[in-house]
Amino acid sequence: MTLNKAVMEIRQRIRVKPSPTDEPAASWTGIDLVNGIQIKTLTVIFKSAGCRWGKAGGCTMCGYVYDCASEPPTLEDYKAQLARAMKKAEKFPEFMVKIFTSGSFLDEQEVPREARDAILRTLADDPRVIKVLAETRPNFVTEENVPDCLKILKNKPFELAFGLETSSDRIRKDSINKGFTFGDFVRAAEIARKNGATVKAYLMLKPLFLSERQALEDIVCSIDDAAPYSDTISINLCNVQKGTLVEALWEKGQYRPLALEHRRNPAKGKSCPS
Ligand code: SF4
Repeated sequence: MTLNKAVMEIRQRIRVKPSPTDEPAASWTGIDLVNGIQIKTLTVIFKSAGCRWGKAGGCTMCGYVYDCASEPPTLEDYKAQLARAMKKAEKFPEFMVKIFTSGSFLDEQEVPREARDAILRTLADDPRVIKVLAETRPNFVTEENVPDCLKILKNKPFELAFGLETSSDRIRKDSINKGFTFGDFVRAAEIARKNGATVKAYLMLKPLFLSERQALEDIVCSIDDAAPYSDTISINLCNVQKGTLVEALWEKGQYRPLALEHRRNPAKGKSCPS
């Protein structure tokens, strides 16, 4: 059985529950660094038509696909989702907005162009918004849509975020089933930067089928490999999400998130990594 088939079989057992399409899947405030300065953030997980890769099987650790709308949101729904989220930042004098869709913001089959433009226009027109980040799979980045987004944003700082996970094509394929290559990420990052956007790479610590040591070696290599193409790198521990292959294997005792245990060194009387 292929990895994608194993993921798909699990997906088919889970139904996306109907929920209002004019409310985001989630939104929250936080703090991040912009040019080395701490700044307030508003993170919005839009309910979209859903990640096309995830709906066809997709990534072994991803339960976000179940956050999508049960029916495609309208333009008015997207505007309402943003308005509801923005209320959480109404007292902020300035902040950064992070856009996630549990998929790809730049996929026009997932988020229609008119909705994408309306969201960016609202953020461009709010003088308190000092930076916008949007997550997408690399294959949706084009020479056309990056400058389009920046134009609508009136050249506010714009960052494209990619779930690269690892720089190893073998691990991305055989442990994550991510469906794109490191070369695809490089191409998208180069287009983003050439057109004036910055790049954030998300890396994942300990996907399936890696030992602790292999996971640590992979993350170190991945940081080195991704750094030339990234302005920011974010390292995220693989967690166990509902309705995923990771969860199915975790339940059978065949996966555990990274566990850095310590053993006592009786000779020296201090603890050392095992
Ligand atoms: S991790 Fe991202 S690309 Fe993979 S299935 Fe989930 S939403 Fe889609």
